[in-house]
Amino acid sequence: MSTSGVLVVVSGPSGVGKSTLCKNIVTRVPGTTLSVSYTTRSPRPGEHEGVEYCFVDDTTFRDLIQEEAFVEWAEVYGRKYGTPKQPLVEALHKGIDVLLDIDAQGAKQIMERFAGAVYVFVAPPSLDVLRNRLCRRASDPPEEIQRRLHKASDEIANFKAYHYFVRNEELLQATKELESIILAERVKTNRLDPESLVENGLIEPVTMKKAAT
Ligand code: ADP
Ligand code: 5GP
Repeated sequence: MSTSGVLVVVSGPSGVGKSTLCKNIVTRVPGTTLSVSYTTRSPRPGEHEGVEYCFVDDTTFRDLIQEEAFVEWAEVYGRKYGTPKQPLVEALHKGIDVLLDIDAQGAKQIMERFAGAVYVFVAPPSLDVLRNRLCRRASDPPEEIQRRLHKASDEIANFKAYHYFVRNEELLQATKELESIILAERVKTNRLDPESLVENGLIEPVTMKKAAT
């Protein structure tokens, strides 16, 4: 009965489990999709073009910025990352909920540009656990891991900018929490198109008119 999909911004420190959680949601919750960002970083082993990211060089990324192809973009750990506008707008128009796995700078830009998005902060149970996850992922050199850990504490301190705080200790529990957030957001009254209640015969057109005056 809603006219548009829900835009769900999932942010939090690197290595906390955002992409793992988002992938879980897309497989568990029909009607959701994960936005594929553009990045100037190189693919990690096992990553594929167009699946985890669209991998581009700096010149292409700059051209895309000029063409206003991104709804937000940011430089994260020395590499550029951006969310493409067109697939996002198309999915929302079709009523599909779109998950954005983006950093705090990107989340801030979406807050300034999109009304009605939902902001979820994913936190680790502790910084030690976060360090272990970054090490186990084995995709970044030690100095890069140290850089990401250093930034994590500042990011967590800004949790109040988000609507929800999901502690990713046990993956299934955190997945269920994120799923619950999306399901609850879908049935919020402010997302409901009143006309659809008339079309379904749940409200008389005359009652609608009275309620509107
Ligand atoms: P992010 O997208 O936030 O950078 P990832 O989803 O890549 O993080 O997760 C980082 C690592 O932590 C991965 O190896 C992932 O399998 C692991 N991980 C994610 N969530 C959990 C969890 N709840 N418990 C244990 N390991 C986890
Ligand atoms: P990674 O290189 O580990 O895949 O991602 C590094 C960080 O960039 C993560 O915090 C991730 O959420 C963020 N990120 C991924 N895509 C985007 C994007 O399109 N925009 C922004 N602002 N951040 C992104």
